[in-house]
Amino acid sequence: MRLSFAPLAFAALVLAGTAQADAAPPPPPVAAPVSAPAKPPKLVVAISVDQFASDVFDRYRRFYTRGLARLQDGAVFPAGYQSHAATETCPGHSTLLTGARPARTGIIANNWFDSTTGRRVYCAEDERDPASTAKDPVVSPWHLRVPTLGDRMKAANPASRNVAVSGKDRAVIMMGGHTLDAAFWWKDGAFVGLSGKTLPASVAGMNRDIAAKVAADGPGLALPAWCAGRDRAVPVGDFTLGTNHFPIQAGKADTFRVSPRLDAATATIATRLVDEMKLGQRAAPDILSVSFSATDYVGHAYGNGGVEMCIQMEELDRSIGVLLDHLDALKIDYVVVLSADHGGFDAPERLDQQAYPAATRVTRSMTPGELNKAVTAKTGIAVTSGALVYGDGPFGDFYVSKKLAPAQRTTVAAALTDILKADPQVAAVFTAQELAALPMPPAGMPQDWTLRDRARASFDPERSGDVVALLKRGIVPIDDPRPGYTATHGSPWDYDRRVPMLFWRRGLAGFEQPAPVETVDIAPTLSAVLGLAVPAGQFDGRCLDIDGSAADSCHAAP
Ligand code: ZN
Repeated sequence: MRLSFAPLAFAALVLAGTAQADAAPPPPPVAAPVSAPAKPPKLVVAISVDQFASDVFDRYRRFYTRGLARLQDGAVFPAGYQSHAATETCPGHSTLLTGARPARTGIIANNWFDSTTGRRVYCAEDERDPASTAKDPVVSPWHLRVPTLGDRMKAANPASRNVAVSGKDRAVIMMGGHTLDAAFWWKDGAFVGLSGKTLPASVAGMNRDIAAKVAADGPGLALPAWCAGRDRAVPVGDFTLGTNHFPIQAGKADTFRVSPRLDAATATIATRLVDEMKLGQRAAPDILSVSFSATDYVGHAYGNGGVEMCIQMEELDRSIGVLLDHLDALKIDYVVVLSADHGGFDAPERLDQQAYPAATRVTRSMTPGELNKAVTAKTGIAVTSGALVYGDGPFGDFYVSKKLAPAQRTTVAAALTDILKADPQVAAVFTAQELAALPMPPAGMPQDWTLRDRARASFDPERSGDVVALLKRGIVPIDDPRPGYTATHGSPWDYDRRVPMLFWRRGLAGFEQPAPVETVDIAPTLSAVLGLAVPAGQFDGRCLDIDGSAADSCHAAP
């Protein structure tokens, strides 16, 4: 009898222990003791993930274990909005650190047209420079009408440094602005920098590593177990997508660029610049903008629903982790924001298999060439050189040639408007006069804006088209998909407008706020964290209190 007590007592102890464990689970990371930082941070790390739709963030966020997992412990806004209609890279990056919508930044599209000469103008060039051509633009912030956060930091303290690195020149320029101390981006197989400056050892060394890597065939990247279910070929015309693991093909730098390796290189350059320039390690605060481009390149080439984007998400998480771990090792007090320039939409061929048969490709009738023919057929007006109507694609801004007499211009614009309105693929058509007469849409609740509001937020009277056409939801503006270009963004619909916005700083109490916010809220939010005084009326956005505790990061204690 006596012996039997011991096992019973043991069982009771185990049961009690189990009950205790059930009643008191370990606290989640956000509940850890926190104390609001007393001083402004020494470094702002502004991360853009090009084409990082909220839809993609939501789909993969449970798998993040490195940098993105860390940021999910901070202030999480899963419904950030690039609230304007023209959801392209240049306009989107122009909102991230200026607090201004494209109507105020002046960056209404990646390209617009000078309808007097017919010349295409690139958003990040200075076409006054005779060396700058539409094909090979000289990179410049000339078109950006407002200061960035880095510009404001340097105005407040000239000792602050403003540094940017990306796979794309327009990302570097639109995040960095007018006072970049150093900037590096990918061009033709290597990273280059601002003209007239020698490449530092960090970047030159990376270029040598990249050249060596693409000199010979190399294996693909590891397939995470959670990506295996997506490893499935989807036919698109005479090729397929959905099964590429990114092997290197000898001599083809694009097998490096259109792969997660581009982000890994970008992160490595960023960490080396932190060391070389002592970013965040001196008296004045610095800003480091990092725009990771590979998510966009992978999304355009393969869509965002296949194994390629799955592998990209695993590797992006790792690359962001490398950067943040490096800052931690140096014990730098930094604040991070991560967001995106726009979202994205999958290839319609895969969406058709996945319960979205209404997703389809635009027809050739919407291309500028076909629209020109249709306008001539309708009006009898033709030109012997150039075009009647200029456009950068099968939607967006269309420019009527200024070589025409005023009466002819009116006739052509009216005919174009009628043709677009009669096309069943078109959701809305606006004229420049209509948009110019509208007030700017109000701050807050960008998900409720009308299409007209969204187009207004992208409108600039000097640079916008005479006619703006928006396609219906689900219509992908690529009529001729080819390997490397199958899916895209640019629409006024939420799959292209909605992007995650994550803020993190050691000591801040994390939280998740599902209510919509705007990317133009980032600059006012970080200005408050930095204690920068910005005159009223200069931002389209508002300060977000990113401290989930009773402390308020928008109104720091004096
Ligand atoms: Zn982009």
